[in-house]
Amino acid sequence: MSDSESPATHDGNDRPADLRLYIPEPQVWTARVKIGWDKEYCYAKLPGQDYLHLLLNGEIFLESRDERLCLTCAVRRGVVTMDRLYWQNRPRIASIPVVGL
Ligand SMILES: [Zn+2]
Repeated sequence: MSDSESPATHDGNDRPADLRLYIPEPQVWTARVKIGWDKEYCYAKLPGQDYLHLLLNGEIFLESRDERLCLTCAVRRGVVTMDRLYWQNRPRIASIPVVGL
């Protein structure tokens, strides 16, 4: 027996929270980082807000062909999710029956 003593790195108590994010439609949305201080805004507003969300230098945002969303709005609209099982909760394109064959 030659068990090497491994340090207790995974005691489960001080592991960081799982902050991974997923884009269910990666063909539509791209994660980008804002570079520079020129004024660019999120295209969405939260209910009750009458101002636009300014994207800051270094801020991660989501972009599609004709929309740009801050991370907060992207999560709210489901463009980005923390649900690792998102792919189980949506209809798969491959499961849609092909008509006409
Ligand atoms: Zn926003």
